[in-house]
Amino acid sequence: MSKEENLQCSFCGRKKAETDLLIAGIDAHICDKCIEQAYGIVQEEVAEAKTSNLPKDLILKKPKEIKAFLDEYIIGQEETKKAMSVAVYNHYKRLLQAKDESDEVEIEKSNIILVGDTGTGKTLLARTIAKMLNVPFSIVDATVLTQAGYVGEDVESILSRLLQAADYDVSKAERGIVFIDEIDKIARKGDNPSITRDVSGEGVQQALLKLLEGTVVNVAPKGGRKHPEQKFIEVDTKDILFIAGGAFSGIDRVISKRLNMQAVGFGASIEEDQIDEDNLLQYIIPSDLKEYGLIPEIIGRLPVLSYMNPLDAKTLRAILTEPKNSIIKQYTKLFAMDGVTFSIKEEALQYIVNKAIEYKLGARGLRSLCEAILTDAMFELPGTDTKEFVVDKAYAENKLTKTTLKKLSVAS
Ligand code: ADP
Repeated sequence: MSKEENLQCSFCGRKKAETDLLIAGIDAHICDKCIEQAYGIVQEEVAEAKTSNLPKDLILKKPKEIKAFLDEYIIGQEETKKAMSVAVYNHYKRLLQAKDESDEVEIEKSNIILVGDTGTGKTLLARTIAKMLNVPFSIVDATVLTQAGYVGEDVESILSRLLQAADYDVSKAERGIVFIDEIDKIARKGDNPSITRDVSGEGVQQALLKLLEGTVVNVAPKGGRKHPEQKFIEVDTKDILFIAGGAFSGIDRVISKRLNMQAVGFGASIEEDQIDEDNLLQYIIPSDLKEYGLIPEIIGRLPVLSYMNPLDAKTLRAILTEPKNSIIKQYTKLFAMDGVTFSIKEEALQYIVNKAIEYKLGARGLRSLCEAILTDAMFELPGTDTKEFVVDKAYAENKLTKTTLKKLSVAS
């Protein structure tokens, strides 16, 4: 046998005759099949390296899966849940893309703005998204923010909280979610502000701009100005998802005005008689926010605009029992821990819903109402022989005196 025929692939051991090609190295050989296999491995590794831009514990789901997860916790608000699922999916796809510098199509951030009355589930939505993705989450109230140099919190304090939520793991914080509540409160008041020092309005909006878009910020880890000695931590906000929320009370008038103008104008898209006057928020568009007093740059950096529907009796009733961790499920668990089987009749649930509506307590009021009805039982039953506790309408009525209801409505 010639020396040539003795050659074999140093990886798989195939003889030269069994291969289509055998390439010689310094003191080894590789065959075409092993090259193909090795190429496949290289491709996989490269792809893996790109995804590892996202932390391993971040769970990226498809929009439909995100929506299904939201459905478990949030009743109704279908359009917003859909819009958010897509926005969140795109946001994290953008993180995947970030490493691929050869790509010319740059995906922009999909920060979100939610418009709707308080208690309609804006915070709950943001919190649930963060829970699903397993990323740090923080809430900040826009009303406490001021321009640097004024009494109040600097805009950077938003990031201190996120850092805290991330246990000071900067890379984790940089992929977190921040919920900015009451963004409507920093709207410019009127188009021609007579106040020269607009402490809480446009100045704050300007300060927020950079953060929303993506910038490197020096963050005081403990927040505030009380710890001047602390070292600053650099946080890049480009991959942080911002979700802003606000009630924008009175914006329905802005929408209504615009719709009426459109309805009489040439090429009207919505016929006047089709407009659902009771829920004008569903027609909201970015220019309404501008009219309300948000600066166009802020609106541009919150490109996903969605709205919350008001909670009707049917939704409130569902909120009591349907979410995965619904109020009633929580009480059932609490009683079960004392060996008591707890149940509540439909008539009592309806009664609670009616009182929440009558006293304008909203979804948040549902818990206070339940608490008022069940506190006595939660005090009395532990340690007794009671094995079953059923709440009917009469029991609920009896516990919810007028005074309690008045107190609740004042507190809300
Ligand atoms: P917002 O941020 O709009 O003021 P929240 O998210 O704080 O409102 O809602 C208050 C509470 O009301 C939530 O914690 C939740 O218990 C309940 N809630 C409101 N809307 C819904 C909903 N659509 N589905 C389930 N629970 C809801």
